[in-house]
Amino acid sequence: MKTALYVFLLAVLPVSAAPPLRALIIDGQNNHDWRRTTPTLKKILEDTGLFQVDVVTTPAKGGDFSRFQPEFARYQVVISNYNDYPDGSKWPAAVQAAFEQYVRQGGGFVSYHAADNAFPEWPAYNLMIGIGGWMGRDEKAGPFWYFRDGKLVSDPSPGAAGAHGERKPFPVAIRDGTHPITRGLPKVWMHAADELYSKLRGPGQQMTVLATAYSDPANAGTGRDEPMLMVIRYGKGRVFHTTLGHDVPAMECVGFMTTFARGAEWAATGKVTQKLPVDFPGADKASTRALGAGAQ
Ligand code: ZN
Repeated sequence: MKTALYVFLLAVLPVSAAPPLRALIIDGQNNHDWRRTTPTLKKILEDTGLFQVDVVTTPAKGGDFSRFQPEFARYQVVISNYNDYPDGSKWPAAVQAAFEQYVRQGGGFVSYHAADNAFPEWPAYNLMIGIGGWMGRDEKAGPFWYFRDGKLVSDPSPGAAGAHGERKPFPVAIRDGTHPITRGLPKVWMHAADELYSKLRGPGQQMTVLATAYSDPANAGTGRDEPMLMVIRYGKGRVFHTTLGHDVPAMECVGFMTTFARGAEWAATGKVTQKLPVDFPGADKASTRALGAGAQ
């Protein structure tokens, strides 16, 4: 009996008794609906059974930031759902310095969707995200980065950074299927309706583009294969950058939730233990799962 009980417990309990990965989501200002998207990000992470998630919300624009002092070192991964577009609050210099030190010393960071609009004037932040858009970024921010003939190219042409068309479903193409985040994913999967970012530019140092999507000129696109999922090294730190997930319906794409949760685990630990879900989308049809987390 005892053996049977033990085997039963082994079968139903989580594989490891390892403590949860501690994750911190930062929000509070964004030209996106962060009050709905943060609970959705939190639920995606918690549903993996791997994460314990805290949220720190900054004051609104014009508020007193003196008590915004996240204890980054308590976390294995920090997720930014913060964007000062178009004229929001910069983080105080001491918070910027603490965040730089945290990532440089090996902390994980996930830049989610419009977080790559933020802070064009903060050099270390732009090294972390690799590429960004809007907020006055132009050729001084770095070249455009995109895929041409199957290879990542940097294009120093002048011009503003950041664009997207109407929200529509679009295929995402894996460019590096050997990375822990993308291992086992279909080479092409159909993403639910979302903004397809284009014309991102930045330093692109120590950046690997894991996935791209074709930016269709028929939908205000560039005709280029634009970076969608990236990993970047900053010091000893690991950064995962996803351009995807404009709103909750886009985040209910199983492709979004899988790559986001895997990206957060990789940023935290350098490994991915999550299996590919059975309802992961194929090339032709998006696959969504209601999360019900964004309701207020
Ligand atoms: Zn958006």
